[in-house]
Amino acid sequence: MNKSDSEHMLGLLDEIGYKTTDDIQLADLMILNTCAIRAGAEEKIYSYLGRWRQLKEKYPGRLIAVGGCVAQDAGESLITRSPGVDIVFGTHNLHRLPDLVQQAKTTKAPVVEIFQELPEDLPEVPVIRQNSISAWVTIIYGCDYNCTYCIVPYVRGREKSRTVTEITKEMKELGQAGYKEITLLGQNVTAYGHDLNPALHLGHLLEEAGKIEEIKRVRFLTGHPRDLKPEIIEAVANVENACEYFHIPIQAGDNRTLRRMARGYTVDFYKKLVEQIRNKIPDAVITSDLIVGFPGETEEEFLNTVNLVQDICFDAVNTAAYSPRPHTPSANWEEQIPEPEKYERLRFLNTAVSEVSHRLNKRLLGKTIEVLVEGKSSRNPERLTGRTRGNKIVNFEGKEDLIGELVNVSIESANPWALRGTLVN
Ligand code: SAH
Ligand code: SF4
Repeated sequence: MNKSDSEHMLGLLDEIGYKTTDDIQLADLMILNTCAIRAGAEEKIYSYLGRWRQLKEKYPGRLIAVGGCVAQDAGESLITRSPGVDIVFGTHNLHRLPDLVQQAKTTKAPVVEIFQELPEDLPEVPVIRQNSISAWVTIIYGCDYNCTYCIVPYVRGREKSRTVTEITKEMKELGQAGYKEITLLGQNVTAYGHDLNPALHLGHLLEEAGKIEEIKRVRFLTGHPRDLKPEIIEAVANVENACEYFHIPIQAGDNRTLRRMARGYTVDFYKKLVEQIRNKIPDAVITSDLIVGFPGETEEEFLNTVNLVQDICFDAVNTAAYSPRPHTPSANWEEQIPEPEKYERLRFLNTAVSEVSHRLNKRLLGKTIEVLVEGKSSRNPERLTGRTRGNKIVNFEGKEDLIGELVNVSIESANPWALRGTLVN
């Protein structure tokens, strides 16, 4: 989401004559796009800003801007805590960035602007994408849930779907521009369309994407299990370019924890959902997010989460140690789990996750799989890297002119995180 927001910032700044530079010494404007999801990300911001301030002292006249979720929450206090910051903008007024830059340039005084919600008549925001094969398309802003650990609803506001007309236009333009893959993006994409009149669902968008011949793959990220309705699964099964890939964050494998997280489902509900998916799409890749060390999580409850990974057989899981966040109820609960314990649980869980991923990846040995070639491998320029429809990374030898193409690769080795193989066609 942040990367996509950054691409929109680039689009907006291009309109007032800014270009990107690889040389930080040359920058007239430096923007930090911040993430508030965990404390770790937030802490890094102030060390960045400290370093940037030194650069500013060395090369005066440049502007420093801070945007994103931390800026949305911190507002004015960012300027007090980090002198040298010229512009603070939030998640609801990204489109105002060019005006704020001009304002800071003329007034030579700090500019802070935070909106409490998205404006009704949000203008179309230009975008400069950093990838020419795969594109993000935001379909819904905000989140209406109130999970007790999560800062997202506070900093991203209420759900607001973009219209099908707008999204379809953007997807068609991407097809014409040569993009092969689209990821429909939002904090809760599975809730897409409930606020539109007439109400729609994500399946409708997948069908629209299915009509665009040039787009070979469409995915969606990220959703809530409760909203992953049968009609969405049906659309993934029926629409040819919809990838058989479901990222469905469960967060914990224990009912008491799920209840205290206010997730609104049980482990059993989730298992039935996975069963529905696998009944319709037997080869579906299913990935998830898990949090360990939620306040009050007992050893037994933690082990329920570990067992769930083995039980469901996730292809991959993003795991995280619980991080207490401002404006969330669970941050103030007693029974916070000590840091060393959280990290021990995290390591234990990660081992279980890798074992399962490795086992599932090994099932692909000997198979020939369609790969969308994304670029050269960063370690070995003789090799190419791409992803399967199930979002698994595949490395293989091949010529640069295959970048952006769909190729077949015969899989010869697998580790928990990636596959290696030989080009077939
Ligand atoms: N809307 C998605 C998740 C969006 S946030 C959902 O409902 O599941 C992305 C991920 O960050 C979450 O899945 C969660 O695993 C993690 N996360 C959110 N808040 C967190 C916190 N306070 N501590 C640790 N991880 C957190
Ligand atoms: Fe956060 Fe996702 Fe829960 Fe929304 S549904 S509050 S984004 S974890």
